Amino acid sequence: MPRVIAVANQKGGVAKTTTVHALESAWASLGDRVLLVDLDPQACLTSSVGVEPEILELSLHDCFVRAVPAADVRMKVGDIGLLPASIELAGTEVHLLGRTGREFALRKVLEPIRADYDVVLIDCPPSLGVLTITALTASDEVLIPMQCEALSQRGVTQLIDTITDVREFTNPSLRITGVVATMFDGRTLEGRRVLEDVAAKSGLTVLEPPVPRSVRFAEAPAAGQSIFEFAPRHPGAEAYRRLVQTLRETG
Ligand code: ADP
Ligand code: MG
Repeated sequence: MPRVIAVANQKGGVAKTTTVHALESAWASLGDRVLLVDLDPQACLTSSVGVEPEILELSLHDCFVRAVPAADVRMKVGDIGLLPASIELAGTEVHLLGRTGREFALRKVLEPIRADYDVVLIDCPPSLGVLTITALTASDEVLIPMQCEALSQRGVTQLIDTITDVREFTNPSLRITGVVATMFDGRTLEGRRVLEDVAAKSGLTVLEPPVPRSVRFAEAPAAGQSIFEFAPRHPGAEAYRRLVQTLRETG
């Protein structure tokens, strides 16, 4: 059975999508079969792998709302699988709210296809709503990208409370693998120190290494590429490569 990893943080702009895309590239290059799940109605992950969300006939929304099998919605993008998002996903939450067992909706969608993969990476929307809960319920573990600066202790507490609830009610074996420190500015060690402080207070592990801040990360998705295709020798690519090694060791 694959390792199912939710990448979650209700704060927007902390590099969830960037992290999912980079981990996917690094992981796939090692020969593992990777499935990407785009749970964000903004569909940034879908477009960053080069698929236009506006012209899709089917998306995850159809799996949730019309019970279309994941196998019919899944796309093959190079070596990897993608369950794409579309803007329609914004309406999925409302639909799920009226359904019994909604927390298990994604788990059920993934069930018939999960054995085809070694790793499933779920890109969560920037909220702690129903969609994120379905991701946490479907996952073995959760990775939390955090920006080295501008941390909000309260935001972290809310996220951990949600994970605690999920463990209690829908997924007792969910574990927090750790924090991915993103947009790290090596010139100011302050950010790193603040991050480690927040992590320690919340009992979280900061995974090694931190990912450096670089404009390359903003340029890559516009080209439909991950940092590895766009700038393979960049320290940011190297950081994600090493993170995958760390993750494989903790798996
Ligand atoms: P989220 O999915 O959490 O909303 P994104 O992955 O979309 O965050 O990243 C937000 C913005 O930050 C994007 O423009 C992205 O290109 C940029 N970004 C991500 N990682 C880095 C980094 N290490 N250095 C600089 N910019 C980054
Ligand atoms: Mg995102």
